[in-house]
Amino acid sequence: MKLTILGATGSIGVSTLDVVAQHPERFEVVALSGHSRIDVLAAQCTKFRPKFAVVGDVLSAEKLQAQLHRESVATEVLYGPSALEHISSLPEVDAVMAAIVGAAGLAPSLAAARAGKRVLLANKEALVMAGSVFMDEIKKSGAVLLPIDSEHNAVFQAMPDDYAGSPMARGIKRILLTASGGPFRNRALSELADVTPEQAIAHPNWTMGKKISVDSATMMNKGLEVIEAHWLFGVPAAQIEVVIHPQSVVHSMVDYVDGSVIAQLGNPDMRTPIAQALAWPQRISSGVAPLDLCAIGRLDFEPLDLQRFPCVALAYRALNEGNNRAAVLNAANEIAVAAFLERRLSFLNIPTVISATLDAVESVPADDLASILEADRYAREVATIACQRCHL
Ligand code: NAD
Ligand code: MG
Repeated sequence: MKLTILGATGSIGVSTLDVVAQHPERFEVVALSGHSRIDVLAAQCTKFRPKFAVVGDVLSAEKLQAQLHRESVATEVLYGPSALEHISSLPEVDAVMAAIVGAAGLAPSLAAARAGKRVLLANKEALVMAGSVFMDEIKKSGAVLLPIDSEHNAVFQAMPDDYAGSPMARGIKRILLTASGGPFRNRALSELADVTPEQAIAHPNWTMGKKISVDSATMMNKGLEVIEAHWLFGVPAAQIEVVIHPQSVVHSMVDYVDGSVIAQLGNPDMRTPIAQALAWPQRISSGVAPLDLCAIGRLDFEPLDLQRFPCVALAYRALNEGNNRAAVLNAANEIAVAAFLERRLSFLNIPTVISATLDAVESVPADDLASILEADRYAREVATIACQRCHL
């Protein structure tokens, strides 16, 4: 199978290459992309010898090309958004790992969908922003969409084969998304006011990129995942529930009308969902340690406290209201998280900025890419001002 890996230098990208390296007879890397950490990308090119590597701008491209030239690596270096779309739709590529973080991943993920590739989707923001457009492109091209997000990958594994189109007709009652609750599950609300970026990105169970780590601490990550689940599986918001499960061993569940609940379990290591999607419908080894339930001892479940985690309620609100709401939510969240990471916004003001942005941006239909991108652009402007108005 010939692969393009978007966001190869990130947490998911590195885990993907780890699985790929374990099965050299099975996978060939055709293209890689990276936005920063050009040295990491250079080392990946030296090891995997892709035909193309894509970076963000001309300076990074020149730096990378010179480095590869010195090491006699023949990879051709391209740059910019159109190059990302190019490597996502190359005729010789079978599958695209979409692992760019945030809205920047939308256009190349869509290009892969349009080109009918096997799309391994980690970039949940693409579905949150443009769920209906994305799913339409998948249907039109006959692309195969496989979720990488561990919860959605678990749900996919627990779903009947023929769920597509009408999951309710297949006896599905609810999707139960599990959530670790992040690093602040047990902290008093009053202690959250002066949380630092370092504390927020120290996730108890998973090692991930900075943005998703902050999203996990606010639990906006789970809110985005509710929206993601809605589009992936065609299940209404009212039938998608969140359950706190601190151990992150049960990755999610499907509850059926006959009382059966099917769960997928495993150690919290993204190489499992990555290997599942790379090999589907077959199974390959991933390098993940076997699950030792006796060593784990117990699995706990608790209801979600929406007071403590208002971001989840904001995401349900956006999903229920439809129109441009989810794109606005996502954009405001990206701006607020970036401001928090740069110490310009306090942790508790992240939901304040998102809520103010949802209120300030008019709810209008956004069912094509142009209107979604306009909602994204305008919401970023509004959220930037909202961040400035919030005193730390
Ligand atoms: P990360 O920050 O570690 O990596 C992001 C990648 O995207 C890097 O390769 C970076 O160079 C690239 N990138 C960043 N900005 C870019 C831009 N403007 N243009 C082009 N490329 C850009 O992030 P991650 O943790 O690997 O997450 C990637 C995606 O996968 C996110 O959407 C995240 O929500 C999702 N996801 C991650 C995990 C995880 O365990 N890390 C789990 C589930 C879902
Ligand atoms: Mg997840």
